[in-house]
Amino acid sequence: MSSLRNGNGHRAYRRKQAQLKRRTARESLACAWCGAPIDTTLPATHPMSFTADHPDAVVHGGHLVKQELAPMHRRCNSSKGDSAPVEIWEAS
Ligand SMILES: [Zn+2]
Repeated sequence: MSSLRNGNGHRAYRRKQAQLKRRTARESLACAWCGAPIDTTLPATHPMSFTADHPDAVVHGGHLVKQELAPMHRRCNSSKGDSAPVEIWEAS
């Protein structure tokens, strides 16, 4: 289940992340969570910086291709996690 977090799986995961970051910059891909563009030049500590996540973990949309990583803002990526504040999803 969490095999992506270690060993070869993790290395492949990091490589896919780097590939996706290049593709996000080249094709101006939008955040899979909020749909807004991502500035891949922002520092990794910036809340709107690029992160990549597995669509399996994406509950918003559900149309993403399996086994592809999805680009997300750091803020959005953490907002769907269980350890982050979720106050921006109070709307609707
Ligand atoms: Zn976003």
